[in-house]
Amino acid sequence: MKKYLVIGNPVEHSLSPKLHNYWIKENKIDAVYNKKQLNEIDIQKIISEVKNGEIDGINVTVPFKKTVIPFLNELTSVAKKTKSVNTIYKKMDKVIGDNTDVGGFESALQNINYNVKGKIAFILGAGGVAPSIILALKKMGASKIILSNRTKQKAEDLKKIYPELDLVNWGDVPEFDIIINATSLGLKENDTIKLDYSVIGPNKFFYDVIYNPSKTKFLLKGKELGNQIENGKTMFAYQAQLAFKIWHNIEPKIDEKVLKLLEND
Ligand code: NDP
Repeated sequence: MKKYLVIGNPVEHSLSPKLHNYWIKENKIDAVYNKKQLNEIDIQKIISEVKNGEIDGINVTVPFKKTVIPFLNELTSVAKKTKSVNTIYKKMDKVIGDNTDVGGFESALQNINYNVKGKIAFILGAGGVAPSIILALKKMGASKIILSNRTKQKAEDLKKIYPELDLVNWGDVPEFDIIINATSLGLKENDTIKLDYSVIGPNKFFYDVIYNPSKTKFLLKGKELGNQIENGKTMFAYQAQLAFKIWHNIEPKIDEKVLKLLEND
């Protein structure tokens, strides 16, 4: 039986096992997908288990998407560019790090026919997921990408990878077409993002990488102002679909039933 798992800290609330095990069963694959909470010191050992065949694939979540990199033999070009790995597998005796968050975000926007070409994007956050969102927006042809993060140094570090980024102070609201909450603010019920919503009109697009709750205060505010809104549920489903395809060479279905699995957990 093949073995897969998601590593992170915390990892208790990850929905990856639920989704992957559903697809494993649906596609009659002899495999199991678990979750494992780790500390940084355990990373090297778990990756060596991919090398020696004890584990067939790993998904990586907060806070290890960057930490795993030195222990891998090779990175795909997307993982290299974003310095972020969320999917690990073995190929020709080498342990490879890939990043399916980029493709997940791209597919999520394509799925709702949102065309990024020529648009000004404003990203809130400079954590683990931010470089993937930036690369996806670049690939989709955004005309300008503006970024704001509470801790300015982290935004400046991202600008070293993406020099074309425009940085603004936390709380400032520039002109934009699409605003993306790529922070973890909104996961808790009382979380609010300190933004001057009064300068934001209607007819823009509010995207939140968070999908549980399905409507964060950020999305509710966007909607109240007359904007299109979307949460990160399909992004999550698509990044998992891409990882599944890498490991099993099967493209699992994303349908209403699958999306329902990702609700209220
Ligand atoms: P990180 O922990 O790496 O980064 C967290 C980000 O949130 C940082 O920019 C941090 O700012 C900001 N932040 C946290 N608390 C506050 C606060 N009180 N005020 C202002 N800013 C704050 O997380 P990730 O980047 O990995 O993930 C971010 C979110 O994206 C998570 O909710 C995660 O679940 C979600 N996600 C969704 C995916 C999907 O497929 N839908 C895929 C990957 C992630 P600072 O630097 O100042 O601390």
